[in-house]
Amino acid sequence: MNGNNLKLAIQKKGRLTDKTLSLLRSSGIDIDNYSDRLTVSARNFDLDILFLRDDDIPEYVQDGVADIGVVGENVLLEKQSDVSLIKKLGYSRCRLMIASPNDFIYENLIQLEDKRIATSYPNILKKYLTENNVNAKIIDISGSVEIAPALGIADFICDIVSTGNTLKLHKLKTIEKVIDSEAVLISRNNITKDSTKNELLSKLVQRIESSITAKSSKYLMMNIPASSLENIKKIIPALKSPTVLPLADEGMLAVHAVIPNDLFWDIVDKLKSEGASGILIFPIENLIP
Ligand code: ATP
Ligand code: MG
Repeated sequence: MNGNNLKLAIQKKGRLTDKTLSLLRSSGIDIDNYSDRLTVSARNFDLDILFLRDDDIPEYVQDGVADIGVVGENVLLEKQSDVSLIKKLGYSRCRLMIASPNDFIYENLIQLEDKRIATSYPNILKKYLTENNVNAKIIDISGSVEIAPALGIADFICDIVSTGNTLKLHKLKTIEKVIDSEAVLISRNNITKDSTKNELLSKLVQRIESSITAKSSKYLMMNIPASSLENIKKIIPALKSPTVLPLADEGMLAVHAVIPNDLFWDIVDKLKSEGASGILIFPIENLIP
């Protein structure tokens, strides 16, 4: 490790680990297979990676043990550490939900008054209940929250849900959403005062942004009748103005454009009805605005 390197804390083993490493790799950062090591240095960027439990990351970043870190927003909000949110990363999306036994007939939050709610997120839940003027007893437990109602130690639970399968297994159903969460990049507050590290952080963020934009976009190429150009410009979002090239066949043009991933299937029929042919779609590796 080198004192001038940017120190990034990521989850050692869990739901955030693979996606975070793959985001770094697609941002052009070369990382060795780390197996059981606590830290690794990137080969081509002044970056050291620290592998930690996700619960510890906000505090380590606050205290400067790491300069930056990746955690779920749920952990960031729960830990209440004094750090800065740099960027939402768009993966590991989940929701913190309140759930009740399947047979409970839910109408509104007032039904939670004076009831017991088991959770590993007491701070987030407390804030939510206060904002909604509900007095409930929060039972703080660290894991396997979903068994609390069956054990008779809570009436409801508040936990992370993505597919809902775990809830189903325990005969529970969701009744209210507390927060949405996704992976976020955080930094220690005073990082801007350290010009070397701040510069490395800007460089890293630019690379991450370019990789995220590239993944959410596609490169579209097609041939169109020249007479359709104006209509086709209207179909392709104004986001990136298309490149238009003449073809040997007079009256025909080649059009290239960057489009959002999810738009393609919405516009393909409209493009065809304007006479577009030879439509090609390519993945984009990086996109630097
Ligand atoms: P650690 O051992 O590091 O403390 P953990 O068991 O607390 O790990 P994980 O289950 O690996 O944590 O989840 C890490 C983060 O991934 C969560 O804080 C949340 O932001 C997100 N997450 C949790 N469950 C899901 C899910 N089902 N789908 C998507 N993201 C999730
Ligand atoms: Mg954890």
